[in-house]
Amino acid sequence: MTTVLALAPAASHTKAGHPESFQRMKALTAALEQSGLLADLSFLQPEPATVEQLRRVHTVDLIEFVRHKSNLGGGLLDQGDTYATGETYNLALMAAGACTGVVDQIMTGVADNGFALIRPPGHHAETDRVSGFCIFNNAAAAARQAQVVHGVKRVAIIDYDVHHGNGTQDIFFEDDSVLFASVHLFAPYFYPGIGGMYEIGTGRGRGFTFNVPLPPYVGDIGYRRVFDELIGPRLERFEPEFLIVSAGFDAHWQDPLAMAGLSLRGYADITRKLLNYADRFCNGRILFVLEGGYQHDVLSHGVLNVFHALLGHDIILDPLGPMMQSEHDISDLIKRLEKHYLLK
Ligand SMILES: [Zn+2]
Repeated sequence: MTTVLALAPAASHTKAGHPESFQRMKALTAALEQSGLLADLSFLQPEPATVEQLRRVHTVDLIEFVRHKSNLGGGLLDQGDTYATGETYNLALMAAGACTGVVDQIMTGVADNGFALIRPPGHHAETDRVSGFCIFNNAAAAARQAQVVHGVKRVAIIDYDVHHGNGTQDIFFEDDSVLFASVHLFAPYFYPGIGGMYEIGTGRGRGFTFNVPLPPYVGDIGYRRVFDELIGPRLERFEPEFLIVSAGFDAHWQDPLAMAGLSLRGYADITRKLLNYADRFCNGRILFVLEGGYQHDVLSHGVLNVFHALLGHDIILDPLGPMMQSEHDISDLIKRLEKHYLLK
């Protein structure tokens, strides 16, 4: 088994005091070095994505806006907290290019699977708008690379970052060749405020956006049920040829920005389920793309656990344990979603 790691840490896309800073990647790479895992991985030196690759998922105006802001030295890019530095444009191209590069390696048989550890993250970046610390949509660019360059017909993007992947949803909302499934916390005032179960796509894309909006504190059992009872059956019907995972580690109970209640063991469980689905439907072709995760211990251990799973190791690290409070039962929500998406 060859597992490829593409690293695009974006050291000079960083802002003091901002949760999405280079400090995340410093913690992560230190943990990887200490883990001994690097000896088992192959490495891809990323190349920046081309404008042509980005044009498959973004408007020229958006790409030019980011380039222009970067050339001026950076600043805030939206009303929220999405920032740029003078280097951001080039570094965001590198993040997207790392993802398309891993797709190339998997599709040409150089690697079996891979993980792009990249910043800035991407899943909030819409067709024509940056948002939520995201500049360019890395996972979306990877999906289009598989389709346009390698002739893949159906790609599934599964997003388990605790925030709804509004950007990826926006890009593929009218598309029936990319199934987008997002499992996220859906609560009043919680970013980005969309991702309800009635957002299912439009036109040809109707039924190819699959939102699983969770209440707070669902925890390991609820998440496991979502992947067994909802995601699995939907993938089975879609029959993807390539699986992309928008891997955010902010659904962990210790994350400072959210309260989804997942443990590291719970994350590892759903990772293994996704690998099983990739084996069943996609010949094992699966790419993990880093999104959020702001508690550095969680982020580091979460990523190490994904590598153990990708390499077929029977190892799960969970020094932090499960959340203290009881888990929210989601039986009723699962029934409603099964009915709504005609899974039964
Ligand atoms: Zn997030």
